[in-house]
Amino acid sequence: MKPHLFYMYATAMQEISTPGSARLERVLANPAEWALFIDIDGTLLDMAPRPDAAVVPPGLVETLTRLSKGFGGGVALVTGRRVADADRFFAPLRLVTSGVHGAEVRTHPGGETLMLAAPVPSEVLQAVHDIAARSSGILIEEKGPVVAVHYRKAPELGPAIERDLGSITLRWKDFTLRPGRRVLELVPKAHSKGTGLRSLVRLPAFNGRRPIMIGDDHGDEAAMHLAQRLGGLGLKVAGEHFDRHGADFDGAASVRAWLSGLADAAANPPGTA
Ligand SMILES: [Mg+2]
Repeated sequence: MKPHLFYMYATAMQEISTPGSARLERVLANPAEWALFIDIDGTLLDMAPRPDAAVVPPGLVETLTRLSKGFGGGVALVTGRRVADADRFFAPLRLVTSGVHGAEVRTHPGGETLMLAAPVPSEVLQAVHDIAARSSGILIEEKGPVVAVHYRKAPELGPAIERDLGSITLRWKDFTLRPGRRVLELVPKAHSKGTGLRSLVRLPAFNGRRPIMIGDDHGDEAAMHLAQRLGGLGLKVAGEHFDRHGADFDGAASVRAWLSGLADAAANPPGTA
């Protein structure tokens, strides 16, 4: 192969293997332009067999603390978990957080968590538990306004669980079914990670910065699209939902490494060296 052809081939392969690199470089070049909205499971933390088995790797809390400082507080979590669960993971750090798919919010790190929707009615919870009784591989997670049905240990039951939960949404029409990575969640229709992000972007710490939503799952897409509509970016993490081709990160470890570099860049912005 002629040298220039080899160079073009190598460059093309590099672009295929790191498709998001140009976008990531753009953010690193000027951190002060951006605000960060970050999903937790599959994005900051590697996926675990059970939600309570997720592990916070060494150094992540320190990275998030440096990031928040470097971004003037313009770093938030946008998660399907409860805000209190996020706090437990990242203690002693507390960030602005949208929880349970936009149905909880804490607009200030030291503030109270507000519930934006009523708790799941007991009849709905009972109907969900009846579905779970079909297999010990099904795990129910009650999260106030949302109930999640995890089936990572019984993936073959996914279609049957989806059908049964779908029938619940026909009866209780305020709820919709949101699929995730080996999980199906009954979520109040009015709420999503998109509404969660919308409730945060106008806060002083985020105002005037372009929003970046980083996520790995179906539920993150509404927030990614909104971030893009607002002049920002939706950055995808490869996994069971996004494949590697077209994703910005090949997994949570890549996100953590990039965020650590971004925290360095925010602490030493261009022109200050
Ligand atoms: Mg996720």
